Amino acid sequence: MSYLRKNIVDMAGYVPGFQPPDEAEWVKLNTNENPYPPSPKVIEAIRQATGDDLRKYPDAACREGRKAAAELYGYPVDWVIMANGSDELLNNLIRACAGEGEEIAFLHPSYSYYATLAQVQGATVKIYPLTEDCEIVGFPARYPGKLFFLTSPNAPLGLNWSPDEVAALADRCDGLLVVDEAYADFAGSNCLELVKTKPNVIVTRTLSKSYSLAGMRLGLAIARPDIIAALDKIRDHYNLDRLAQVALVAALGDQEYFGECVARICATRDWFRHELTRFGYTVLPSSANYLFASSPDRNGQRIYDALYQRKVLVRYFSDPVLAHGVRISIGTREEMESTLSVLKEIG
Ligand SMILES: *Cc1c(COP(=O)(O)O)cnc(C)c1O
Repeated sequence: MSYLRKNIVDMAGYVPGFQPPDEAEWVKLNTNENPYPPSPKVIEAIRQATGDDLRKYPDAACREGRKAAAELYGYPVDWVIMANGSDELLNNLIRACAGEGEEIAFLHPSYSYYATLAQVQGATVKIYPLTEDCEIVGFPARYPGKLFFLTSPNAPLGLNWSPDEVAALADRCDGLLVVDEAYADFAGSNCLELVKTKPNVIVTRTLSKSYSLAGMRLGLAIARPDIIAALDKIRDHYNLDRLAQVALVAALGDQEYFGECVARICATRDWFRHELTRFGYTVLPSSANYLFASSPDRNGQRIYDALYQRKVLVRYFSDPVLAHGVRISIGTREEMESTLSVLKEIG
């Protein structure tokens, strides 16, 4: 074991959401995937790119993709970086900003992968509790750590911080405030504009959820050019393969299809929340493509197990602050109707 760094030996490693081998037999509502297929233009672009060109390296600078994102979000190209999933950016942000023994922070509950990445780097972690009504407990007037990750909308609770609230938090951070906006496309507001006014704010996005491309691994970040340039040195130079690059351009280019899918998911979410609440569940309002719901007996494990037996897969967290509920991704209206009737059967 002496070959390995002690922190790697000691750490548990991240456990991703369960992907069942017999995928088609499940109503799969556990990893916040989009129930709709990617834009037909994405499929067509990938088909076109699966020829002889694959023997050549992809564009290391991902110029077309960055240009498409820069135009869409209203930023110059040197404020944009692409990644092999936004997870890659979260990793590279820690590597860029926090040395061994230096501190990063995030809220609990939120995305637990930040903790894993910090462990790999040997950074220390400060966790601020988050209450269900959006209170951050004990966040100091000035936070001296190197990075503060704010998942907005929060995962798994779904609550969204307003740009004003995030701006106020940014003013209290000595280091970078990373706004992880994996679900911002399902929310009414986001922090993209803040990047222009607050030098320590960086926004990360992913095409995994709102663009139905979890299988392609596409993420991006918007930040000041000096931060982007640093992240650019750290990344794998060919982090986006040729298929990912054409998929990216086609996906961002088909805003009409994107908008329709997102609107449908939001409508289904709001309908499902209403129905579940009527049935006696406690369901937090959500700005994302999932709901955190608890049954009257506040027993998330029971609901998870009962749904599992009926081939409906949701996410249960054994953590004490989350064990009273389950996180349910929003699928198609039909999937949510059948999930609702299964829940009514379980009681
Ligand atoms: C899904 C998710 C990510 C990762 O997105 P990828 O682009 O698929 O790597 C990052 N942050 C949060 C909060 C997520 O839920």
